[in-house]
Amino acid sequence: MTHTEHNSLAADTATRVAGLNEALAVMPDETGHFGPYGGRFVSEVLMTALQELDEAYRRLKHDKKFMADFHYDLQHYVGRPSPLYFAERLTQQAGGARIMLKREDLNHTGAHKINNCIGQALLAKHMGKPRVIAETGAGQHGVASATVAARFGLKCRVYMGADDIARQSPNVYRMKLLGAEVVPVTSGSRTLKDALSEAMRDWVTNVDDTYYIIGTVAGPHPYPMLVRDFQSVIGTEARQQCLQQFGKLPDAIVACVGGGSNAMGIFHPFLEDSQVRLIGAEPAGRGLATSQHAAPLSRGSVGILHGTRTYLMQDEDGQVLDTYSISAGLDYPGVGPEHAWLKDIKRAEYVAVDDQRALHAFRQCNLLEGILPALESAHGLAHAMELAATMDKEDIIIVNMSGRGDKDIPTMAKIDGMRLD
Ligand SMILES: *Cc1c(COP(=O)(O)O)cnc(C)c1O
Repeated sequence: MTHTEHNSLAADTATRVAGLNEALAVMPDETGHFGPYGGRFVSEVLMTALQELDEAYRRLKHDKKFMADFHYDLQHYVGRPSPLYFAERLTQQAGGARIMLKREDLNHTGAHKINNCIGQALLAKHMGKPRVIAETGAGQHGVASATVAARFGLKCRVYMGADDIARQSPNVYRMKLLGAEVVPVTSGSRTLKDALSEAMRDWVTNVDDTYYIIGTVAGPHPYPMLVRDFQSVIGTEARQQCLQQFGKLPDAIVACVGGGSNAMGIFHPFLEDSQVRLIGAEPAGRGLATSQHAAPLSRGSVGILHGTRTYLMQDEDGQVLDTYSISAGLDYPGVGPEHAWLKDIKRAEYVAVDDQRALHAFRQCNLLEGILPALESAHGLAHAMELAATMDKEDIIIVNMSGRGDKDIPTMAKIDGMRLD
């Protein structure tokens, strides 16, 4: 890189940081709204706890020691920065734009979730809470929470649907190895949304000594904001890496959307770069025409779920519908409120990718790159490859490789009729 290029890169980064701070200040507003979405729909007791958290976070995000501790762990514990890798053979196969992978799969514990958990465990410590609780579906957020609890010496309890416990025994055992207590939830559909409700109940009872670590950009304010901020390290790095490698910004960014945290994390530092297309890929499961999907931005309607106003899967009476995806991490009936807003103002686009297309991309990524992606991430990759084919060879698409697929080997083996024991 020449001296002039260096200077313009530095100048660009400086204006970006100024612009970003402005954007951070306005989104969400101080009541936690992104346009009509977000907010805080909770009981009186939780209102107080959320206010306490909001105040602590607003203070600590300007605290040099807190931010230094956060970045120290991102570097030395998580292993950041994660590479921005040119997927040369996937690019050849797709035939068009260059496909770059943001390698969150290489993080400690194998996914992006750890970034947020480090941030929230530090919040718990600074707020003087010795106990953390978390909800988990497939177990990924439970493992990340149990990991940081061990790292920071916090007591940890994880709520998990009884049906999910039966399906995900390796993750349950892993949480136990990490010293966490795993509590089965037998109410409702015995899955993630019931675990979330149960965790909220625990928090109401134990607010004095307990911090609730939410795993995605959903839930009541300030969670969608603070989880996004902690995950924004993904986009900040990707932006810098792309400028360094190519001297220009990417043309498009693609990320899978469950609750929406890996997508918000990579989108956020690009929000003001209107020339960069931001695309979220929801799971279309067995097809949007069936009822077996988890695509609230494509097929849902506006309502209130887990304390926030957003798009969700509900029937005419407002009952939350059961959802389905081959990838457990995307199987959530709601979505973070900031995505709802970005969809409405058309700053981001949302597509739906079904199981079959995700599986195809999963296999191609293994065969052509030697990378075993999470089934979640394969949804984003599938769309990116189809998009690349419509674009120019000079164009750049960044795909957020949100996690690695070791956890999906039993699912894949079953599909392929392979016995593992
Ligand atoms: C949990 C998970 C997701 C979905 O969560 P988001 O909040 O939408 O990012 C995606 N990918 C992986 C690997 C996950 O573990």
